[in-house]
Amino acid sequence: MASINSVTRQIAALEISSKPNTTGTTRTNGHQKKSSQEVNKIKLLNKLAAPNPFIPAHSKSSSSVMTTKQQSRPPSPTKPQPKAKPVQPAQPTERTIDIGKYDGGFENDERMRGVVSSEAARELALDSSTSGSNPTREWSLCDFDIGRPLGKGKFGRVYMVRTKEEPHFILALKCLYKKEISDSRCEKQVRREIEIQKNLRHPNVLRMYGYFHDEQRVFLMLEFAGMGEIYKQLCKHGRFSDRRSSRYIDQMSDALLYLHSKHVIHRDIKPENLLLGLNGELKIADFGWSVHAPSNRRRTVCGTLDYLPPEMVRERPHDASVDLWALGILTYEFLVGNPPFEDLRGVAATQDKIKAGRYSFPSHVSAEARDLIFKLLQQDPEKRLPLPEVRKHPWLVKWRQRSEGSGAGNAS
Ligand code: ATP
Ligand code: MG
Repeated sequence: MASINSVTRQIAALEISSKPNTTGTTRTNGHQKKSSQEVNKIKLLNKLAAPNPFIPAHSKSSSSVMTTKQQSRPPSPTKPQPKAKPVQPAQPTERTIDIGKYDGGFENDERMRGVVSSEAARELALDSSTSGSNPTREWSLCDFDIGRPLGKGKFGRVYMVRTKEEPHFILALKCLYKKEISDSRCEKQVRREIEIQKNLRHPNVLRMYGYFHDEQRVFLMLEFAGMGEIYKQLCKHGRFSDRRSSRYIDQMSDALLYLHSKHVIHRDIKPENLLLGLNGELKIADFGWSVHAPSNRRRTVCGTLDYLPPEMVRERPHDASVDLWALGILTYEFLVGNPPFEDLRGVAATQDKIKAGRYSFPSHVSAEARDLIFKLLQQDPEKRLPLPEVRKHPWLVKWRQRSEGSGAGNAS
């Protein structure tokens, strides 16, 4: 199987963009400044990773591809579209992007799963082609070549897939079994996760391009996070350097600023829910506990114990500042290797530490990083450092400037 780097190289070799990039930079959040060569690569990756639901059928001949401009302004799905101008022949190498070997997991799972009740089936009759005012094209499992398994989730498996039609987009297909969703009474949670994630657009938030369903399963078409889970990296390295931690926290804070501006609270931030894109950029995934909460304060206790803020431990109402607390825990965990209130004696001991705000720093943690963590881990939600201030914090600014100065970008 080709390594991610060779996949990246193969993708970079596909000259499907008609316009050379001359800007030299792309949307950055400090550490993410990129060379023009890298930007070109990202553009190409985005083209491949992003199924364009609006490609008119007549433009899909093997001799034409859409230009960047054509893709960025989707034509109305109802209006007949002018024929897309052939810009460059599609390269035969497109097919050679190795998506790995399919292990037959869908068929194996299918044999083991039962059917859902008609009511649950109605709740889970999800199809992005029929929802809302902006219908996308209809997808089904037959539209994809299925490759290697990427992981296993609560309700099913995730695979690396490629669209059979040109230009052979690469994405991750997450399968959720309706029976298991309805057995755990999570129909509403799954619906909410999809509704929220499909409307989000930020370089550090995992894109959901669409979804479809069959009798037994719901499929989510997700951006392919080529470098996998941050959690695995953290386990491998024990802890991250200041440079790497600050880069991730910088990207996290930018993404959270965006989510909160859309009134979305994530509520389950932790390394397990953060993936890495092909260029090592952080991608917030897993919106299973997120809510769209324009005004009201909420009471549901959710998320993961080590990341729970004191107001949730006390079962008091909470708001978007729960994500600020979690950002403080995450900063600590990246730099130290474990969360600050972890207590192996059990749940009650951890909860007591959270309520008392009792934690300490190992000596290697710098004064600047301690200051940011301290300002985020405030018992009083209103006293937590607001995100615009987080972005200006000296620890983030210092490492951002160093990365920009050295041109290190996403290197660790
Ligand atoms: P859990 O509750 O265990 O987190 P889940 O239902 O939320 O399960 P995910 O975390 O979304 O499932 O997916 C399971 C695993 O599949 C992830 O940990 C990750 O390794 C892999 N994975 C999921 N989505 C992607 C993606 N878009 N790109 C690459 N790998 C992915
Ligand atoms: Mg998950």
